[in-house]
Amino acid sequence: MKKTGKGDYHAVSLSGGKDSTAMLLMMIEKGMPVDGVFWADTGMEFPEMYRHIEKVDAYLFRERGLHIHVLRHPRGFEWLMFDEPKQKKSAVERRIRDGVPLCGNGWPGIRVRWCTGQLKTHLITKEVNRLKGEYNAVSYVGITYDEQERCKGERYPLVEWQVTEEQALRYCYGKGFDWGGLYEIYHRCSCWCCPFQRIDELRKLRKHHPELWGRMLEMDARALGQFGETPLGMFRKGWTVGALDERFEAEEQGRKFCRHRKKEPGAEEPALLFCTETGILGADAANQESEGFL
Ligand code: SF4
Repeated sequence: MKKTGKGDYHAVSLSGGKDSTAMLLMMIEKGMPVDGVFWADTGMEFPEMYRHIEKVDAYLFRERGLHIHVLRHPRGFEWLMFDEPKQKKSAVERRIRDGVPLCGNGWPGIRVRWCTGQLKTHLITKEVNRLKGEYNAVSYVGITYDEQERCKGERYPLVEWQVTEEQALRYCYGKGFDWGGLYEIYHRCSCWCCPFQRIDELRKLRKHHPELWGRMLEMDARALGQFGETPLGMFRKGWTVGALDERFEAEEQGRKFCRHRKKEPGAEEPALLFCTETGILGADAANQESEGFL
């Protein structure tokens, strides 16, 4: 690990997106000290993002003789989603009570967003805290001027320089970093399988990255098989990836898509049904309702 000033350490957190990339490139251009650049690989990044990171790494090496430190969870996203054994007594008891398998966290949800911490923030924070213990370490985070309310306690050069998101992207393009066109398609370029992305991003994923969409369908089938229609097994509240797939297919063919609940004779709860007919709910009402989820 290369060091500059005695006792100081300048650590850059790179998400790989336009803001942190612009911050790093600008810091280099302005001749600011950079001792370490840290990037957490969730394993679920777009192929274009991996190529972008390679390109930034080559640039960093050329300009400063440094390589990016890649941080990874030892087992990765899918192990956490399907296989991580639950150990806490209360969690085990709750799962036994609810009839949920004792392994795996299922799809990340609003209430249990296990992925960001385990695959990104804990890894970076641990590294930065270690450096802070060893050096007079300063951590640089790529938050832009438009999002300055998110700043808390680190150095935010883009805020200091009043660089907006749009300016950050234009600056990167000007330096020859274009993510293979990802930002021309998507609004955001983090995990392709993120359940928190907007419906239109998912629609575009199916169209522009059908191979990744195919992997989502496989994960969806596995999650449903393991956890059923519980919050862990459902991609989004009331939605499986398979149902979204049918919906997008119907949209492409100009058909209406309907989602409704139907109670079968003898069943305790009504089952969630998806169909492309105007069923129990009128199709317009169903479509309106479905938009509200994503
Ligand atoms: S992008 Fe989505 S899936 Fe990936 S770590 Fe963040 S919240 Fe989780």
